[in-house]
Amino acid sequence: MSVERTLCIIKPDAVEKKKAGAILALLEEAGFSILACKRVQLTRPVAEGFYAVHRARPFFGELVDFMIRSPVFLVVLERENAVMHYRKVMGATDPAKADANTIRKLYGTSVGENAVHGSDSLENARIEIAYFFAANKVAPVAS
Ligand code: ADP
Ligand code: MG
Repeated sequence: MSVERTLCIIKPDAVEKKKAGAILALLEEAGFSILACKRVQLTRPVAEGFYAVHRARPFFGELVDFMIRSPVFLVVLERENAVMHYRKVMGATDPAKADANTIRKLYGTSVGENAVHGSDSLENARIEIAYFFAANKVAPVAS
């Protein structure tokens, strides 16, 4: 295993419920370093580009509408085995099926409004981080 980075997005539902701080605290408790964090109102083209892989799915329009409803937090996380570990801490896509004490079980509402995004592979983590953060805006590897 090695030190990796992954992208977390705290989605509009969780930000609206004022759970961004609780989610960041949970992530720190889980051993992640928060390398970068910014609050952003996504635009439609930016959200469509981010979720382009899902363009053909029936829920694509609903997903984009949701993601631009109100601001999100874009968060770069670092840890040993960060990509897979964060997927575990995040929980299953559907909060009803997520394990106890995962972010989605604690803060998600539905399969669409599920509190957070997480990269699904190291390659996609690199692409997703670069989509939102210039390289010189993210700290070098944590000491
Ligand atoms: P994950 O976020 O767990 O990686 P996916 O990549 O499959 O899940 O889906 C991306 C996002 O699209 C989900 O987090 C969720 O917000 C939304 N989504 C997925 N499946 C559905 C669905 N059946 N109905 C509505 N929204 C969905
Ligand atoms: Mg995914």
